[in-house]
Amino acid sequence: LRRNPGETEFHQAVREVLESIGPALGKHPEYAESKIIERICEPERQVIFRVPWEDDRGEVHINRGFRVEFNSALGPYKGGLRFHPSVYLGIVKFLGFEQIFKNSLTGLPIGGGKGGSDFDPKGRSQREIMRFCQSFMTELYRHIGEHTDVPAGDIGVGGREVGYLFGQYKRITNRYESGVITGKGLSFGGAQVRTEATGYGCAFFVDEMLKARGTSFDGKRVVVSGSGNVAIYTIEKIQQLGGTVVACSDSSGYVVDDQGIDLALLKQVKEVERLRVDVYAKRRGGAASFVPGRSVWEVPCEVAMPSATQNEITGRDAELLVRGGCIAVGEGANMPTMPEGVRIFQEAGVAFGPGKAANAGGVATSALEMQQNASRDSWTFEFSERRLAEIMRDIHGRCLATADEYGMPGNYVAGANIDGFKRVADAMLALGLI
Ligand code: NDP
Repeated sequence: LRRNPGETEFHQAVREVLESIGPALGKHPEYAESKIIERICEPERQVIFRVPWEDDRGEVHINRGFRVEFNSALGPYKGGLRFHPSVYLGIVKFLGFEQIFKNSLTGLPIGGGKGGSDFDPKGRSQREIMRFCQSFMTELYRHIGEHTDVPAGDIGVGGREVGYLFGQYKRITNRYESGVITGKGLSFGGAQVRTEATGYGCAFFVDEMLKARGTSFDGKRVVVSGSGNVAIYTIEKIQQLGGTVVACSDSSGYVVDDQGIDLALLKQVKEVERLRVDVYAKRRGGAASFVPGRSVWEVPCEVAMPSATQNEITGRDAELLVRGGCIAVGEGANMPTMPEGVRIFQEAGVAFGPGKAANAGGVATSALEMQQNASRDSWTFEFSERRLAEIMRDIHGRCLATADEYGMPGNYVAGANIDGFKRVADAMLALGLI
């Protein structure tokens, strides 16, 4: 704590991992002897830089850019970029730290990193977004590369921004290095299913948790928070699996639609017109209503899929959900449940899939995009989705098996943390004092 003052979210993420890997440390004294914990908590490198840009009226703005290259024991640093006014070093480090173990869990050769800026894209024109992305990349390009560090999207960074970032990288370096960034458009090296991957993967993971308890999504009432990339494709897959998603949200409030969210309308409002969820409720007529300024977790459901941001489910929200009949939670977002909430879910016997495992489908499909770029290949949608489903089944199975092995059956948090940690720790031991 003293080494990293004020980085609250980073402390929370580290504490969560350290609290559950005790049994692995007990079994493997070599980890403590070679100070793996101290080393793994310290980023290999962190870069903070100035991002100057000009808005449409000619006014100059200065934002702060970040890239934390946390751990490259398993492969090049890999992790998204977040553009949101709340971004500061503590957020980027929490996300980068989580990313190390998540990437390890996928079984693919990718290290962990994360980046972003405190730039607020809301209300900015397309040209302003482009100018910002170009300025951001004008510094970031020095630090990234296909074999070094491979960014992607996150909150506020979708296909449009990845396009501008890649365009500027290509222009500065004079290299068509497709594998330098993932989440690209299909016309310039992007992979099928990458857009859908985090949401689809999270739905697959929860489907596995439900199957392990002898049930399924079929006929279940589901609440998904957020209405961005992860939320939209979580809703799509749950609907395909027979569930009914009755509510979603954004930072202004939530919509309830008891007949089930009209996905085509939601995509039109959020992806095409980039408007707010209250517009969805208005256009849906009497079927849906908008509740401003309140938490979507007051809507009772059997399955909860937090897909917006960190710390969005408080202890009180968790209690409400349990009382409302919730039997499973799948974290599409990173660290959306506060520690008190996790405890309440686990004590109530709710199947709880932590983000590290449940939302790993996004980065796994990014690694598949890197594979396709490296071999100048492109796979079909069906093949890519099958690969994603296999990866999620495998992660689910390993979380359960590891939790069993360490005497905590059904504890996906312990399973994910121990399994993810061990693979990185073993690689770090093998690579010497790095
Ligand atoms: P988007 O920017 O596409 O969507 C984010 C959604 O969450 C929006 O609806 C947004 O509402 C809402 N939101 C964001 N911040 C807040 C806040 N402080 N309070 C309330 N609502 C908020 O991002 P993604 O869908 O890509 O990311 C969502 C989560 O999933 C993040 O935690 C991200 O780290 C995680 N994730 C994403 C992956 C990906 O592949 N994209 C991969 C793995 C994890 P509003 O528009 O009003 O801000």
